[in-house]
Amino acid sequence: MKNSVSQTKNGKGKATSKKGSSANQSSKSEGMESSKLMKLFEDELKDIYWAEKALTKAIPKMIKKATSEELIEALENHLQETEEQVSRCEEIFGIIGKKAVAKKCEAMDGLIKEAEEILKDTDEGSMRDAGIISAGQKVEHYEIASYGTLRQFAETLGLTDAVELFEMTLEEEKGADETLTEVALSAVNIQAAEEEEEEEVESK
Ligand code: FE
Ligand code: ZN
Ligand code: FE
Ligand code: FE
Repeated sequence: MKNSVSQTKNGKGKATSKKGSSANQSSKSEGMESSKLMKLFEDELKDIYWAEKALTKAIPKMIKKATSEELIEALENHLQETEEQVSRCEEIFGIIGKKAVAKKCEAMDGLIKEAEEILKDTDEGSMRDAGIISAGQKVEHYEIASYGTLRQFAETLGLTDAVELFEMTLEEEKGADETLTEVALSAVNIQAAEEEEEEEVESK
């Protein structure tokens, strides 16, 4: 796979044309911009690779502490997806001809630490479930932002195969986020229904 900037389908990948430069100079600066972007791309890939691997360890802890069947199912599904996402990252390292290397993502490390705090600070049941959902959605949003950027970088770099792989992962992250929203809503609804029932019993 070539990664020359000028090869992108839509032509958007062309480095912003420098005013007044000759054709020769402009292609030289394009090459430079492209290799800088490639470096940034590689760094971001190492970061998200670390994050995904960390999540394959963090999600099982959340599953163990969750109560709602729906939440457990959502987390189990996403754990499986996350394992595939790790492999996809490795595939993308292969596309750019690099060894898969993880670089600690401070942001994900912080999000996971916060999630662990929530697990410690809440009693088992609906409150802890709500905390897990909240922590999970923060994680998904971080991933959505990261993969959106990575997909864009890959597009600019003309890495068509990588674009497709990022797209797949991005859709899974969005799906996970939506599912967590649904789980939260249904939990609220169930709780409201239970409270209503209790009130009815009391009023009898
Ligand atoms: Fe992920
Ligand atoms: Zn990260
Ligand atoms: Fe990071
Ligand atoms: Fe995710």
